[in-house]
Amino acid sequence: MINKVSSIVWENNSLSINTTEKIAYTETRLKEPDRVVIDLLNCSVENKSLLKSFKSELDETITISEPSRDQVRISFLGTAAINRKSYLTNNERTLITRIARVDDLSEGKVVENTEQTTLEKVVPGILKEINIEEDDDETTVIISATKPIKFNTYALKNPDRLAIDLLNILPPDVPLPKHSPTSAISSIRIGRAASGLAATRVVIDLMKSNLDFDTDTNLLGTKLEIEFKPNKEKEEQAKRAGIKVVIDPGHGGYDTGASYGGFEEKDINLIIANKLKNNLEDYGITVFLTREEDSFLSLAERVEITNSIKPALFISIHGNALVSSRVIRGVETYYWTGQSQKLAYYIHKSILSNLNIPDHFIRRAQFYVIRHTPVPAILAELGFLSNHDDRKLLTSSTTQDQYAKALTEAILKFLEIEPKKK
Ligand SMILES: [Zn+2]
Repeated sequence: MINKVSSIVWENNSLSINTTEKIAYTETRLKEPDRVVIDLLNCSVENKSLLKSFKSELDETITISEPSRDQVRISFLGTAAINRKSYLTNNERTLITRIARVDDLSEGKVVENTEQTTLEKVVPGILKEINIEEDDDETTVIISATKPIKFNTYALKNPDRLAIDLLNILPPDVPLPKHSPTSAISSIRIGRAASGLAATRVVIDLMKSNLDFDTDTNLLGTKLEIEFKPNKEKEEQAKRAGIKVVIDPGHGGYDTGASYGGFEEKDINLIIANKLKNNLEDYGITVFLTREEDSFLSLAERVEITNSIKPALFISIHGNALVSSRVIRGVETYYWTGQSQKLAYYIHKSILSNLNIPDHFIRRAQFYVIRHTPVPAILAELGFLSNHDDRKLLTSSTTQDQYAKALTEAILKFLEIEPKKK
């Protein structure tokens, strides 16, 4: 399609030529007399009254002519003391030529700089190439353009991908070669960011969901590097989601358990069980409670629930009581099977080191819930509700947190999970 000049405007020492299509032009500077000739290629002037010659305020003669049917020529003829600068606007349908006396420009360099910045902004760059580099578990995508790249990134889910908008950069005229999939990247797609915007959208389709990315540009800004690295923590979390733990808050409903000083054991058991659940879930572990509310549950039901889940471990939480002596206090940990001994040891030691409570020993006993669960299973008597000091530990929110922390640390140790550094 042939381009057509729709209007020509002379204003503020600038000549603006507006056309219906994108402009292709050549600019020729000639000496003696000093002049500039701009030819708009594949272009014509429909309104022939636009073809004219006039003198500018700087005493320069500007002539618009049509040397052939598909060429429009603008010539600027004046003294050598005139500086002319031509550039296309953003939509490439307007060509602007600014004219200034040379002494105007030499007086203040600022003018020159401003013009250059405008030029940078107005003429978009072009996306040159995209390369992928792989190095161990790192993958780098390198985007090169003809101009400095300004960009926005958007991490998107379902499917996992990273979108990058390259601002003031146009997609290449010829499609870039397709990339073969790597261990981290399945494909790279290139398109226009949004209609009317001189921006390119690059979409990197990712193979994995646990990748972190970092961006960097070279000194000129024409190269953008996006480095993908596996997020170890997320990777571990994903692995741990497969680990199941059953927590059994003892008693419930009409079965209150021990009851002293206005406190009922069933409530304490449930509070600490929930705190422990939250802690373990922070590590991505899947946690089940045999009861989540104040309801009665038989021992057989607790075992049935646990055996249907087949967890990595089972922990039953209780508070102790002794009617005959209110002086007796301390933590007791029970196990029955050989595979449970280590877990009992870790739990017991962890409570002793986290709380100021006496050692009432690790014991072996055939409690129903730990005898019938064929996984590492323990029953922890966290303290004596019948003792004043232990009851304080069991009923204060602060020390309940410490119990939960102690149990968490022991369980993590048993599952060989590295605790988070705080
Ligand atoms: Zn109990």
